[in-house]
Amino acid sequence: MVEASFYRKTDNNGVICDLCPHHCKIQDGKTGICKVRKNEGGTLYSMNYGVISSAALDPIEKKPLFNFMSGSYIFSIGSIGCNLGCLFCQNWKIATADEETVKFSEKNVPPAAIVEAALNTMDRGNVGIAYTYNEPTVWFEYMRDIATLAKEAGLVNVMVSNGYIEQEPLRQLLPLINAFNIDLKGYSNDFYKNLTKSTIAPVLATLKTIASNGNHLEIAYLVIPGENDDAVEFEKTVRWIKDELGDKIPLHINRYFPCHKLKNPPTSIEKIQELYTIAGRYLKNVYMGNV
Ligand code: SF4
Repeated sequence: MVEASFYRKTDNNGVICDLCPHHCKIQDGKTGICKVRKNEGGTLYSMNYGVISSAALDPIEKKPLFNFMSGSYIFSIGSIGCNLGCLFCQNWKIATADEETVKFSEKNVPPAAIVEAALNTMDRGNVGIAYTYNEPTVWFEYMRDIATLAKEAGLVNVMVSNGYIEQEPLRQLLPLINAFNIDLKGYSNDFYKNLTKSTIAPVLATLKTIASNGNHLEIAYLVIPGENDDAVEFEKTVRWIKDELGDKIPLHINRYFPCHKLKNPPTSIEKIQELYTIAGRYLKNVYMGNV
């Protein structure tokens, strides 16, 4: 574990974590909502630094990134923890892992070893490293250190994220991350509150910051029947993307299947096609996923 970035000390050895918009107030000996940032004696630590839960060489389209280095592969890694509580999480086993399930001290893969592994797969078409599988914001320090070395080695960096991150840490990532795929999970704050235990405004702010900085950005939208599939509201969202981010931002409209705690039926192909048609009126690069 390493000392965390972005926190303030308070009375009685307490801390406030400023990495993501939850701004957890964490008492001595406790962890934040993500379960991987822990206050020990008034110092906040990133407990999952060096902890790898999964690694694979994936086609870059699997991130999904369709308009960035198409046809290449990307060395993809994930750690544990998450700052959201999505009822429909597809990676809930690693997202909800904590100190009880993972012996942090027994796992420590140094950043240089990750970069070396990525370099060793270049002969198989690898172009860089993707921070994915679980939310990379909650392993900010590990991702930042790997990405710095990877950039120096001439590799590209890709972040696949829920976008729930504060602006200052995000700005520190912008010079390191070549391409982002950000989930836009719904069009309302109620959806974010009830189904993800977060809020929508910081995610929209993240999208605007990335787009205005000129980093490559693609957006993934998972369509959940009865929750975020209203055509009128979806059209407003697509119009927002066009007006605020530009009509060239690729949008992936993905089909949902029941997972974790959410039992709604799978999205129909007809619904995906309907929303695809709507999005196509405003955006130049729209894709259907999981169909
Ligand atoms: S990163 Fe974790 S500890 Fe920090 S504010 Fe977000 S959920 Fe809380």
